[in-house]
Amino acid sequence: MTSAITNQTPDTTDPKRVLVVMAHPDDIEFTCGGTVSTLAEDGWEVVFCLVTSGDKGTKDETLASHDLAALREAEQEAAARELGVYRCIFLRVPDGFVQDGPELRELLVRTIREVRPQILITWDGYRGFNHRDHRTVGLVALDAVFPLSRNPHYFPEHKAAGLEPHKVNTVLLAGTNEPNYFVDVGAQLGKKVDALRRHASQVTPGTREEWLKRLRQRQQSADRGAVPWAESFRRLHFGGTSAPNRQAVLKKLAKEAAEKAKQTEAGEQAEADTAVAEARAGG
Ligand SMILES: [Zn+2]
Repeated sequence: MTSAITNQTPDTTDPKRVLVVMAHPDDIEFTCGGTVSTLAEDGWEVVFCLVTSGDKGTKDETLASHDLAALREAEQEAAARELGVYRCIFLRVPDGFVQDGPELRELLVRTIREVRPQILITWDGYRGFNHRDHRTVGLVALDAVFPLSRNPHYFPEHKAAGLEPHKVNTVLLAGTNEPNYFVDVGAQLGKKVDALRRHASQVTPGTREEWLKRLRQRQQSADRGAVPWAESFRRLHFGGTSAPNRQAVLKKLAKEAAEKAKQTEAGEQAEADTAVAEARAGG
């Protein structure tokens, strides 16, 4: 049950499951479509949760918000299928008005307790400039993972609905300025492009080949080095077997500091001895 992405065995007997929580239809495909596709190919069941249905994502004043929302939900469902994902949950919070409050916390905790994922992917809410919905979804989703979902005293009414507390092991923060984890999605580019093209109300039209050409040009100008097709994340672990033991880390740091001090002392002593020897030789 271990995975290259979690690097650890989930501490539950649940099936391998990933929940992706994002603000708008198309956020997933742009930030982590290749990673999602890789996980689905590796046998993970992936569920998408879209906090809004992107009902303000147009400059067309004649298009009613509820019609756009319905269109974008259909586009999201089609894009998900391109990536091997067959369940999308739409929370239908109004686009641009995502609030960090008890309502959204409850909705996300409920979703986590229902889906029971080992891995959760969301926006990095701590990144600097970003759409306010992206920032807020990232922060609330992280709060929902820790401490809310795992603690039975938060939203105890969920128990009556058969939803037990749940511990997520790994969180991948997408759209981050501080990545510590990279997934090479070179083999998934075709699927990522197919999924992006499904968001026809949002993206530049073009054939698959035109899209791939545009992406290649963009990547070359960005000079991404040895792994030009990496999707990057900030990876966090919560509990689980590979979480660092704080005491062990502190002990190791103290030992290293002591060794360094010893070496410095020995070096200073050697320098002093040399100086004395030189002085004697000179005298
Ligand atoms: Zn967005």
